Amino acid sequence: MQFIMTRRFIPLLLSLLCLAGPASSADTQLAHSSGVILLYHHVADDTPRSTSVTPDEFAQHLDYIAEHYTVVPLEQLVDAAKGKADVPDNALAITFDDGYENILTNGHPLLQKHGFPYTIFINPEVIGKQGNQLSWEQVKQMQQQGVTFANHTMDHLHLLEKQAGESEQDWLKRVWQNITRAEKIIQQHTGESLKYLAYPFGEYNQTLAKRLEQHGYTAFGQHSGALGKFSDMTAIPRFPAAGPYAKLDTLKTKMASLAMPAVKVSLTDPQMTNRQVDKTVQVTLDASAAKDVRLSQLACYYQGSTLKVSTDASQFGFSLDSTLPIGRSRVNCTAPSESAGGRFYWYSLPFFVANEQGQYPD
Ligand SMILES: [Zn+2]
Repeated sequence: MQFIMTRRFIPLLLSLLCLAGPASSADTQLAHSSGVILLYHHVADDTPRSTSVTPDEFAQHLDYIAEHYTVVPLEQLVDAAKGKADVPDNALAITFDDGYENILTNGHPLLQKHGFPYTIFINPEVIGKQGNQLSWEQVKQMQQQGVTFANHTMDHLHLLEKQAGESEQDWLKRVWQNITRAEKIIQQHTGESLKYLAYPFGEYNQTLAKRLEQHGYTAFGQHSGALGKFSDMTAIPRFPAAGPYAKLDTLKTKMASLAMPAVKVSLTDPQMTNRQVDKTVQVTLDASAAKDVRLSQLACYYQGSTLKVSTDASQFGFSLDSTLPIGRSRVNCTAPSESAGGRFYWYSLPFFVANEQGQYPD
């Protein structure tokens, strides 16, 4: 009954939107994109550069964000992508991985100054135990000031690594216990269980993603892109914003990016057992949302080189000739929006390759 009612109201809603003029018809075309999530680790000038922003850089980022974006809690952005909440235009969420104490000492005061909510993914095994980590008291104190805490596994393991002689079944059992135990401990200390997991190193595979989905988890990677209603909720992209990615000039383009409305990808598992990608990878877009994606200007990149691409109305493909390196790599594809000048649809496909011993490097 409710479904019929809703369908009846859609034409009315559409005509109202059209009356409001071209601005809102552009908004409608972009409505499948919810916003962007930034990923930070350290806020310090004496920590590894690749995962750090200096307090000065961070202050610059936040000033720019305050001027151009609406920072929302991560939960709100995720719920919007799932169709359960609304977010303002230009919504952005801020996340940290690893629970370093310098987030509190250097980052938190700046975030508080702007009144920005944010989320930290922590490893309960090391909280209050390692010198550079937050303590549970600090976690509580920050939580009272609007910070949310979520799951980054107990101990930051490489989730895809199997132990010697371990079967697929035993592997899944072990990593699942690790994840659910971390979730339980976070709940005991904060009273909250969001069931949000940030994969350590951004590494995941289809088997794990499926298990997470079955148990109501939402999971976050470290490949880049915006979040929208067509996103895989067990591999939500986040833009790393530290080290080589901390430059505001390039970060500005990423903050303004839109979620590529990909509904199907021919390569389904990012855990690669083969270091060659034999076939062209095909990405199918939602036919209606694809109308705003200027595929004629699609560009795909891999490790600094431009890939050969093919496109048609609502699909694109790229082929990868190079041998995948051990560890993590990813293809990024961008295409301009037809209706929102200067904004790009962004798509990222990660690959995870083990070494001969089955290990994944840090
Ligand atoms: Zn981490």
